[in-house]
Amino acid sequence: MPTASDTQFTSQFETLPSNQPMADEIRANILNNPGFGKHFTDHMAHIRWTVDADWHGHQVRPYGPLTLDPAASVLHYGQEIFEGIKAYRHADGSIWTFRPEKNAERFRRSARRLALPELSDADFIGSLKALLAQDHAWVPTPASASDECSLYLRPFMIASEAFLGVRPAHEVDYYVIASPAAAYFKGGVAPVSIWLSSHYKRAAPGGTGFAKCGGNYAASLAAQKEAEAHQCGQVAFLDAAENKWVEELGGMNLFFVFKDGRLVTPRLTDTILEGVTRNSVLTLAKEEGLTPEERPISIDEWREGAASGEITEIFACGTAAVITPVGELVSEHERIRLTAGDANNDSNEVAMRLRTKLLDLQYGRSEDKHGWLTQLV
Ligand SMILES: *Cc1c(COP(=O)(O)O)cnc(C)c1O
Repeated sequence: MPTASDTQFTSQFETLPSNQPMADEIRANILNNPGFGKHFTDHMAHIRWTVDADWHGHQVRPYGPLTLDPAASVLHYGQEIFEGIKAYRHADGSIWTFRPEKNAERFRRSARRLALPELSDADFIGSLKALLAQDHAWVPTPASASDECSLYLRPFMIASEAFLGVRPAHEVDYYVIASPAAAYFKGGVAPVSIWLSSHYKRAAPGGTGFAKCGGNYAASLAAQKEAEAHQCGQVAFLDAAENKWVEELGGMNLFFVFKDGRLVTPRLTDTILEGVTRNSVLTLAKEEGLTPEERPISIDEWREGAASGEITEIFACGTAAVITPVGELVSEHERIRLTAGDANNDSNEVAMRLRTKLLDLQYGRSEDKHGWLTQLV
């Protein structure tokens, strides 16, 4: 166990350094080929909340199993939310993250919907800084501009009170764990096939679709299994009320590029999660001369636009996979592919241009005109 003399402070975070950090050589091997979500750094950040004492006990401590009472309410009623954000190493060795105040704000929106306590920007961003102060060696160094390695940060909040009654928990824990990551999709940015579930819905009006909570993901897994059985990597969900409007994928937002330069994405409702990547793409698209439109888009418009050549590209976006072209939409009845009417159709030129623009910003290769980067280390 760490002793008091090992204790250091980063802002208000008390740091208990691990006495068994990963050996440099083993960590270097992991960073050479990290995969996604498989390996974790030496430490985790933790803040405790109780109804009487509010947020307290800010700590960075050795990564390891949690001790949870079997009656902890998260295990029974799923009161849980999370975030996903990355740390990028720039060429000068410094470490940065992208628009963390957007994630902090979304985390509070999710917290309100799940009746969890809200965490301040200072605690949210402070927890990332405190963890990185300890685990900065785990942020991989890109070998080239096409090497999309990063440290994926996973803040999450769980109801830990031991109580089987159904009400918001009076004891809650917030943690941040970190996992070195290579590109999300193995084998580069090949267009993905998307499964359109004719039965399952991800979100309904008044539900939790706009919140980033584990429950939404639990509810999407049966559809994900269907997708895999049809050789599709992701699921597209239509709205629950009319089964007509395109919403998003299980964990990524969708964009449609039109021949005339319009870039359409479904308008935000409480059944769509507002991605930080989505929001950033809307801004960057304008700089690229595209005309962003947030409006409802129906499955019929997708089908007809794909057939007529009006829609020239479709892509999905999110922090983990950045921007990924969509190759086709598969359902029980049909396959919707973009027609190869003009030479640009297969190149996904717009998606790849926006992707490069976003990555150049995140890795500090272009000027941060919007003030989107926050230095962690
Ligand atoms: C996290 C997530 C996204 C993407 O959000 P980013 O902030 O861009 O990573 C999109 N849809 C769902 C359902 C998500 O959980």
